[in-house]
Amino acid sequence: MGKFNVDEFKKKYQNSASMPEVRYTLPISKQEVFYKPITTKQQSAMLKAMEAKDVKLIEKVLDNIISVNTVDEIDVMNMTMVDRKSLLINMVTQSIGDKFDLSLECPECGKNQKMKIDLTKIKDPTISDDKLSKEVTINDYVFTLSIPTRKKMQAIEDTFDVDDDEKVSVVDIADDLITVVIKSVKGEGIEDEDISYEDSIELIKTLTPIDLKQIKEYIDGLDLDSTNKTMFKCKDKECNYKQEIQIQITHLFSK
Ligand SMILES: [Zn+2]
Repeated sequence: MGKFNVDEFKKKYQNSASMPEVRYTLPISKQEVFYKPITTKQQSAMLKAMEAKDVKLIEKVLDNIISVNTVDEIDVMNMTMVDRKSLLINMVTQSIGDKFDLSLECPECGKNQKMKIDLTKIKDPTISDDKLSKEVTINDYVFTLSIPTRKKMQAIEDTFDVDDDEKVSVVDIADDLITVVIKSVKGEGIEDEDISYEDSIELIKTLTPIDLKQIKEYIDGLDLDSTNKTMFKCKDKECNYKQEIQIQITHLFSK
C-alpha cells in the first residue's frame, strides 16, 4: 500500500461515478447539462472574491465553477447571461442549500433587515422565442438584437478599473446593456456580421436618440430584471417599504 496522496484522492473523488450528477435544462437555450455540486473550496474562493469586492474576480470564479463542474464541458462565454445565472442558482440549490437568510439594507429607511429566501420557490425565467432575437431596421440597416452572452458582459467588466475606490456594482453593468444586445448588423455591403463590444460602442455613438429608442425598447421588453425575483418587505413599522428585489448570485454564497 502506498502513501495517501491527497491530489490523487481529489481527482478520483471528483470524477468518481458515485459523485452525484445533477441534470438541469437551461431555460433559454434548452440545452441539457449535467453537473457536479459546488465544493467548499469553490465556495471559499467565491467568498474571498466577494470580500475583495472584485467584480471581475467574482465573475471569473463563477465561470470557473461552471466549466469545471459541468460534465460535458460547456461554452461558458457563449452562454446567455440568463442561462448562466439560472444554472448557478440551480447549482447553489443543489450544493449549498435552498434556504438563505439575507441581511439587506432597506433602501427607504436604511435599516438592516433580515429576510428569508427559499430558492425552491424561485422560478426559472421564461422568455418567449420572439424575444430571444429580434431584428430592427435603422436607416436601411438591419440590426439583430439578442440576449447578451457572458463574453459580451465580460467586455463591459474589462473596461472598468477595479482599483477604483468606488467598486463596480452589478447595477452599473446593467446600465450598459445597450452596448451588448446588438448581435449583428446587415445592410448594403455588409453581410450580417457579428459585432464586437468595442464596435458596438462606436456604432451607438453614430445613432440618433430616436434610433436608440428601438434598441432600448427591446431591452425593456426582455425584462431581464424580472427574473429570479423575490419580495423585500421592511419590518420597521413606520417604514413598511415593499419592493421586489432581484436575487444576486453573491447573496447565495454568503451563507
Ligand atoms: Zn425600511
